[in-house]
Amino acid sequence: MMTIQTIGVVGAGSMGAGIANLAAMNGFNVVLQDIETRFLDGALQRMNKFMDKSVERGKMTEEQKESTLGRIATTVELNDFKEADVVIEAVLEDIDLKKEVFSQLDKIVRDDVILATNTSSLSITEIASSTTRPDCVAGMHFFNPAQLMKLVEVVRGYETSDETVEKLKALSQNLKKEVVEVKKDSPGFIVNRVMIPQFIEAIRLLEEGVATAEDIDKAVKYGLNYPMGPFELQDYAGVDIGYYVMEYFQEEFNDPRFSPPLLMKQMMRAGRYGRKSGIGFYNYKKEEKKLNRV
Ligand code: NAD
Repeated sequence: MMTIQTIGVVGAGSMGAGIANLAAMNGFNVVLQDIETRFLDGALQRMNKFMDKSVERGKMTEEQKESTLGRIATTVELNDFKEADVVIEAVLEDIDLKKEVFSQLDKIVRDDVILATNTSSLSITEIASSTTRPDCVAGMHFFNPAQLMKLVEVVRGYETSDETVEKLKALSQNLKKEVVEVKKDSPGFIVNRVMIPQFIEAIRLLEEGVATAEDIDKAVKYGLNYPMGPFELQDYAGVDIGYYVMEYFQEEFNDPRFSPPLLMKQMMRAGRYGRKSGIGFYNYKKEEKKLNRV
């Protein structure tokens, strides 16, 4: 069995840069690819910033930072993945784009190379169908920021082999992560499947006037010992993201349990809530952390 020395990462956004940084910190050689050099430059800047903080906190030496950076090569050419022993894809969450990237990778990398996707919600099986090696395709779902969040969900597509799952679990452990196996290609895997209904119930409680958003957050934080309440967490991720996941679950499971609550629909229709604006259930743009709605 080929040991993994070089990891290819496709897409140098928040997740791709984090994964590349994590892999290099753990001694792997990394080839990080994106479509334009400015995205790669941005990724290197963010990695630098992240590691500067680690140096400040005494978690890493300046030499370790430099050697980590020295293990990362950047490129705009997918062809540079020829030497990769495994590839992790983290491009935008778009099924057609991912299928296109996988079909190209399939032609570039060696036959035994595993192609993993960091998708949060798309079908692993459908992504794998664009390759000639669906047994070597699986989900490898990291959490943001990938350098710090402890969990990886390894997700089996319909045709993923046991060997692929075992190799990705071993790789996750070598990246010093806790790993869980998701045995079926089911929307939201484990974490999002549990989290989304919690968001929905929290919003329903707010709509029903049972409690304020502040008190719901406080109750969940202190009562369940979560680091963030459901509204804080949705604002952090972007309320639009949660909304799309709810719609997707509702459609895939054909189950109204996952239907986005009316309040959320109104926020989407108003068109100014979400990641870009930084406005969510709390209005961070105002001096006080003040609730927008209800
Ligand atoms: P992002 O928008 O920050 O980054 C995506 C990157 O992909 C961009 O730099 C873009 O230029 C690049 N890209 C687009 N087309 C490309 C192509 N053809 N070839 C190479 N690169 C291309 O997105 P993100 O938040 O890093 O998310 C990436 C993936 O990770 C998505 O599938 C997302 O669902 C998943 N994910 C995101 C999070 C999160 O919290 N952000 C968590 C887990 C999983």
